[in-house]
Amino acid sequence: MISVEEALEKILAAVSRLEPEEKPILECLDQVLDEDVYAGFDIPPLDNAAMDGYAVRSKDIGGAAKGRPVYLDVIDEVAAGHVSTKNVAEGTAMRIMTGAPRPGGADAVVRFEDSDELEHKDDSKRRAKIGIFVAAEKGQNIRSRGEDIQSGTIVLKRGTLLRPAEIGVLASLGKSRARVIRRPIVSILSTGDELCKVNQPLSPGKIYDSNSYAIAASVLKCGGIPKLLDIARDSIRPLKAQISHGADADMLITSGGVSMGDYDIVKDVLSQMGQIDFWTVRMKPGKPLAFGQIRKQKGKVMREVPHLGLPGNPVSSMITFEQFARPAILKMMGKDDFARPTITATLDQPIKNNDGRRIFARVRLTRDREGWHASLTGPQGSGILTSMSAANGLAIVPEDCPLVRAGEKVKVQLLEGSESIW
Ligand code: AMP
Ligand code: MG
Repeated sequence: MISVEEALEKILAAVSRLEPEEKPILECLDQVLDEDVYAGFDIPPLDNAAMDGYAVRSKDIGGAAKGRPVYLDVIDEVAAGHVSTKNVAEGTAMRIMTGAPRPGGADAVVRFEDSDELEHKDDSKRRAKIGIFVAAEKGQNIRSRGEDIQSGTIVLKRGTLLRPAEIGVLASLGKSRARVIRRPIVSILSTGDELCKVNQPLSPGKIYDSNSYAIAASVLKCGGIPKLLDIARDSIRPLKAQISHGADADMLITSGGVSMGDYDIVKDVLSQMGQIDFWTVRMKPGKPLAFGQIRKQKGKVMREVPHLGLPGNPVSSMITFEQFARPAILKMMGKDDFARPTITATLDQPIKNNDGRRIFARVRLTRDREGWHASLTGPQGSGILTSMSAANGLAIVPEDCPLVRAGEKVKVQLLEGSESIW
């Protein structure tokens, strides 16, 4: 048996980041930038007003106060998106709106609230004079050219994850496209004679194929593009054909057929089609796992596609996906933060660990005044998918810990959907 860390290390060593693609910025959300993005101009491009008010010369209003206004001649009005050709000379002011370029001569903006503007609301647009109630520092209420971004500097570095803010920064630089590491296409193949497609009637002895969907949804969540293949039956020829089909992707994930059962022929087929290791990983659920490379001839080139063979039990396949497939997909996308965040919580029920494996127990996290609580979501059988659905965390019981008592602390890995607990 190998440890969870050892298995992860081997898997990560065998996958590499994919090549870049260039596409419209909105389609790049959650992908990793593969270029340094430089600013071709300053942002803001000109000094401009941070407030609605009057552009003035600070010199002219040095003595202004509430009971002692300084009156200035209003020479023009300028709104955002327009440039006034006039200059603010001694004793004058210009009515200015937020975002409008600072007119020549002016070095400060006085807010409407600090003038007699509001006392003359109805005719303020037509008034030739404005009374200013406050003095102003040079630069007051003015956003200076380049205060956000200076021309020629790197604004976003290669390797940056593009979140909504970065997509906005790209747009502010006038970039409509960006170069990012592309998303991996992940083939998903369920194996088993007992499996039935979700849109078919269920006959005796059959169950619906849930793994294809849970795994495909997990692939989507971490940014990959799932490609669902038809269910492969437990016989060599169709399985070979499906695996070969699945190898036309960046990664193949199979579920089922890797344990000790009589019909677990996936192992044999995989060994014939490439370089595959079968591991028993010291974890529960999810002990049997396969990992390797499928070889496929494409024209003159022999391609090698990483393959991860997850156990068939629905909970085992999801938990092994979390521990191994998710990091591999993230690495392919150029990301380097693979680990799910963990917190420490008080366990509400005891968990026994009889055989020295690392247990990932499905729990629901809640918070009270003393801190986090983790409560088991019900029976922990590896076929009980609803207990996965009720969970927002996986409590981790270490290999060398035979028992965690109720009331003791455990580390909990946060799952999808745990955002709502904060
Ligand atoms: P296996 O790993 O193939 O021995 O399967 C272990 C258990 O998981 C069996 O009870 C299977 O019926 C079940 N199982 C395997 N594949 C799927 C699937 N795609 N969807 C739902 N259950 C599955
Ligand atoms: Mg099977």
